[in-house]
Amino acid sequence: MSTDRNALRLRVLGSGAGGGLPQWNCGCPPCRAARSGDPRVRARTQSSLAVSADGARWVLLNASPDVRVQLAAWPAAAPPEGSLRASPIAATVLTNADLDHCLGLLILREGGAPHIFATEPTLEAVEQGLGVLTALSAYGPTKSTALNFHGEETMITDRDGADTGVRVRAFAVTSKVPPYAQARGLGAGRGELDGDTVGLLVRSAGSERVLAYVPGVRELDERLAGYLSQAHTLFIDGTFWRTDEMTSMGLTTRDAKVMGHAPLSGSDGIIEYLQRFSRADRWLVHINNTNPIHFDDSAERRACESAGVRVSYDGLEVTV
Ligand SMILES: [Zn+2]
Repeated sequence: MSTDRNALRLRVLGSGAGGGLPQWNCGCPPCRAARSGDPRVRARTQSSLAVSADGARWVLLNASPDVRVQLAAWPAAAPPEGSLRASPIAATVLTNADLDHCLGLLILREGGAPHIFATEPTLEAVEQGLGVLTALSAYGPTKSTALNFHGEETMITDRDGADTGVRVRAFAVTSKVPPYAQARGLGAGRGELDGDTVGLLVRSAGSERVLAYVPGVRELDERLAGYLSQAHTLFIDGTFWRTDEMTSMGLTTRDAKVMGHAPLSGSDGIIEYLQRFSRADRWLVHINNTNPIHFDDSAERRACESAGVRVSYDGLEVTV
């Protein structure tokens, strides 16, 4: 945590994975507990962070289908005093084209969406798979900019080209192409590190302190470590506790790895991997509803916290 006034500010808009907690059609233990108001479990909206270099203009990191309620619950996201149509939300950076990360673009259609930054494969998926950019352009000015995924720094600007003060470096990570895009044949023939999913290193232009945001990653390799080691604050994939978490419940035949996520537990899991970054503030995001860490008195939650890895929550605010 920094006291530097130029440091990056961050708000967790949604700490859940796709479906949120509770998910509308799910009867797993955390969903049932969240639905019944069990105090051990927090409800969670879907995956998104907001960051700002100046506390006035904000950049969304992913735009979830819950973005309307996420912004309505946050006074800083209100239109500036005296303006009839305006928003502090200046831009959106997507880490991939998953529905929980991109459907919010359509929710932000009124008056044209904030400037969209994403890799070419992600822009291709949201446009050719869902028609998002064409749809948005029917409602107002729409601008998208391709993000390189080799760690080169990009200035995040609003639709008019004004600098937000936020700087982003995207780097390819192993995950998966969203099922809806696969169904349209998108991503076929591309390699795993060809930009379908990225992690982000984010900083304020006035500060050298760095946030790493990686809500989806499957392989915890040295390449990834090279990027994470540059960060002071980490918000990392907390989707599943176990690889067979959903398959063992009979909810799907696709295990965590097939769904593009390393598990938290185990000697090859994310918690163990994060031990080498112990000088950084470490938080989990994108937590799937089936994950037992939702229960604040669970052995899994204790294992996580005693390893120095905290479970983030909707509305959490951090200075990087
Ligand atoms: Zn559930």
